[in-house]
Amino acid sequence: TISYWNGRYLPLDEVHVSPLDRGFLFADGLYEVTAAYNGRLFEPEAHIARLQRGMAELRIDCALSAGDWMAIMERLAAESGIDGDLTVYLQVTRGAASSRGHAFPAGVTPSVFGMASPLKRPPASWRDQGVAAITIPDIRWGRCDLKTVALLGSVLAQQAATDAGVVDALQLRDGLVTEGAATNIFVVKNGVIATPLNDNRILEGITRTVILRLAAEAGLRLEERDIPAAELETADEIWIASTTKEITPVTSLNGKPVGTGAPGMVWRRMFALFAERLGR
Ligand code: PLP
Repeated sequence: TISYWNGRYLPLDEVHVSPLDRGFLFADGLYEVTAAYNGRLFEPEAHIARLQRGMAELRIDCALSAGDWMAIMERLAAESGIDGDLTVYLQVTRGAASSRGHAFPAGVTPSVFGMASPLKRPPASWRDQGVAAITIPDIRWGRCDLKTVALLGSVLAQQAATDAGVVDALQLRDGLVTEGAATNIFVVKNGVIATPLNDNRILEGITRTVILRLAAEAGLRLEERDIPAAELETADEIWIASTTKEITPVTSLNGKPVGTGAPGMVWRRMFALFAERLGR
């Protein structure tokens, strides 16, 4: 399959990365995963904007413009050879320095990588029955707003879910709900949707932003606020949302049913609006 590496398009197995690359040594880099449905990228501008904001925050000085990023994504999607829905993965690291040292090296060129992969959409059973999840402590660092390749916290969270035989692990910090392993969280009570505030404790998910927009357009009540962990136990509905999990209802938490134990009415409404946007 075709990939992008520092200005060239070449087969994935011909990409070779230096062991001195800052991504390899320090996880000093950022990434994005964007879906394409029926050959059309979903919200690519928002993914590029988030990547560029992350680069500005981390002072990764990459010469690519928003238009360049778009062209890379479009070419990877078009030439992937994948028939069906796909994701485009992008990664930028600070680059490969001539020796190992923590502080930013002078004169390095960022390494840029991209590839397309088949997208396995959530199975119908997730929409029919919902999924199970557990809660775990959020042990991640203080800049969860940056989509860095330092994903060990997310790796351990997803493994905790896998070990428990469930789909996601909802993370709790200081008694508040933050995120799933790689998802944003929504809680519904008495018809009102709530999701954690967009600050350094969570990633501003593109799917989350789309949900906020759809709720506003449809006149649904949605609050961005701190969500005490206890609200998970009394919630009528819980959803997890991401590019690859779309909007998935959580119907069992720590072995107990959420609400009625079936996907809720507000989720049904929101998912219909979301599915309509995907198809457009
Ligand atoms: N939160 C975390 C920690 C993530 O890793 C992700 C996606 O990978 C999300 C939220 C959802 O983001 P998006 O909707 O942009 O895929």
